[in-house]
Amino acid sequence: MKAFSRIMLLVLVMTLVFGSVRVAHARIYHPYGFDTHYRQIYCQPAEEADFTEHCRVPILMYHEIGEPFTEHTELFVDPDNFERQMEYLVEHDYNTVSMAELAAHWLESEPLPSNPIVITFDDGFLGNYTKAFPVMKKLELTATIYVVEELIGSERYLNDSMLSEMLEAGFELGHHTKTHRELSNIPVNELEAEVKCSRDRLEDRFDVCIDTIAYPYGSYNEAVLEAVSGADYATGVTIEEGFASEEQGMLTLNRIAVLRSDGLEGFSEKLESRNDNEVKVNYCGQKRGLVPGR
Ligand SMILES: [Zn+2]
Repeated sequence: MKAFSRIMLLVLVMTLVFGSVRVAHARIYHPYGFDTHYRQIYCQPAEEADFTEHCRVPILMYHEIGEPFTEHTELFVDPDNFERQMEYLVEHDYNTVSMAELAAHWLESEPLPSNPIVITFDDGFLGNYTKAFPVMKKLELTATIYVVEELIGSERYLNDSMLSEMLEAGFELGHHTKTHRELSNIPVNELEAEVKCSRDRLEDRFDVCIDTIAYPYGSYNEAVLEAVSGADYATGVTIEEGFASEEQGMLTLNRIAVLRSDGLEGFSEKLESRNDNEVKVNYCGQKRGLVPGR
């Protein structure tokens, strides 16, 4: 009986010790809300980091979370799969960062938390709020929403109050142009209206700074990059497949498309394929092979 009590005591002590270690770990790696810890814990000090390796960051590209309502079914991730994918990120100690934080890391050597990842949603679909946002809020993850100015508030898309609520919760607003046209196929004199004027209006409308853009259909060329650079964007994301790194060019960063057929298995495989990331800067406009956005 004495031995039994000792064992029980040992179990109790172990539970208390390891339980508190787990809590401490969770606090340290919290994506936000525990600023002091968060800012102090990095995977490596910036000056010692292997810059190329250290800076390779996955930027996930989602579109809609929900049942498909267009022929591009791959762009509609099943809500249960989405939840499992988000849980996978938490279980594997990923920390969501914004495109602005990524830019600050690359341009000004601002440190990032360990295992940084950017989650992006293109087009501003309604399910980003109704399906994705509750899951992400619960898990304390954040994302960047690339919105099309003319689609905000229309059927199946986010409206102003939904977007404001997400921004309040730490989400980042990105630009996906005024009308969602293929930028490399429009007259050069219309580029400013698509990438700058519309962005300026959105900044006023939501009272935020927008310095990241996603090219509709992944379509860009030199004139587009010139317009984007002239509008002072810090980052631009493409639909080139792979991990993002600084050498790709700040305005032509790769992303990892998360598709309906991926489920959890395909999702984790993509995240674990860190070594396949080839440096590609593509000025030819249309992305080869991948399904177009929207
Ligand atoms: Zn799009």
